[in-house]
Amino acid sequence: IIVAKDVEKHFGSFQALRGVSLTVQPREVVVIIGPSGSGKSTFIRTLNALDPHDHGAITVDGIPLDGQRHLDEIRREVGMVFQSFNLFPHLTVLENITLAPTRVRKQSQADAEQRALELLRRVGIEEQAHKYPAQLSGGQQQRVAIARALAMDPKVMLFDEPTSALDPEMIKEVLDVMKELARSGMTMLVVTHEMGFAREVADRILFFDRGQIVEDTTPEAFYNHPQHERAQAFLSKIL
Ligand code: ATP
Ligand code: MG
Repeated sequence: IIVAKDVEKHFGSFQALRGVSLTVQPREVVVIIGPSGSGKSTFIRTLNALDPHDHGAITVDGIPLDGQRHLDEIRREVGMVFQSFNLFPHLTVLENITLAPTRVRKQSQADAEQRALELLRRVGIEEQAHKYPAQLSGGQQQRVAIARALAMDPKVMLFDEPTSALDPEMIKEVLDVMKELARSGMTMLVVTHEMGFAREVADRILFFDRGQIVEDTTPEAFYNHPQHERAQAFLSKIL
């Protein structure tokens, strides 16, 4: 469902992505790890054109990501959840979730609200529907962000360190929602250092180093026998 071929990205003279190729099948859960600055965020941001790539080719669900032309189409197919929840502070939980479906998908307000309440139930916080983001815990805000992304019925969900801004007791409730989503068959790319999550849910682990994928393997093989010297060094630090 995602095909990336030889993707490069420069920021001025600095090359953040140095030829990244990847194919992701429908329903696959891919966890991306790697040192700070290795290009993990940049790569997943190229997949919904938040950061346009400057070489190579990307298609998502058959839609080529070239210039402005398919941008809106792609962003409808690809949901994204960030480390900082990025909710609209002046809108209630319900309004945050119904905004894009009513504006972009042209759903009626009533349909969008009904769907939003279903999604809030799914992420376990339907009773928070009429609060503002600032009245929620970090874990609750992140679950709203996930519900908001799901409200567009994306084909792929991208997560960039979704739990790294959270207190430990809130990490689990967000990971549980992500696990349920994975089990439901959602195609997911997840940048995270949560090893338990990666072992339990990932079909594949990608290890990024200096703008390249240097290891692409199963969680088991990765944790038991990392091949690349940088991956070995990285694992010895975080485990
Ligand atoms: P982290 O684990 O710290 O989140 P990362 O693997 O996500 O790291 P990226 O954010 O993708 O790393 O950054 C890769 C490189 O590109 C870094 O050296 C970073 O400084 C650089 N970079 C990222 N965004 C920009 C930007 N908008 N302008 C200039 N350089 C950037
Ligand atoms: Mg990052």
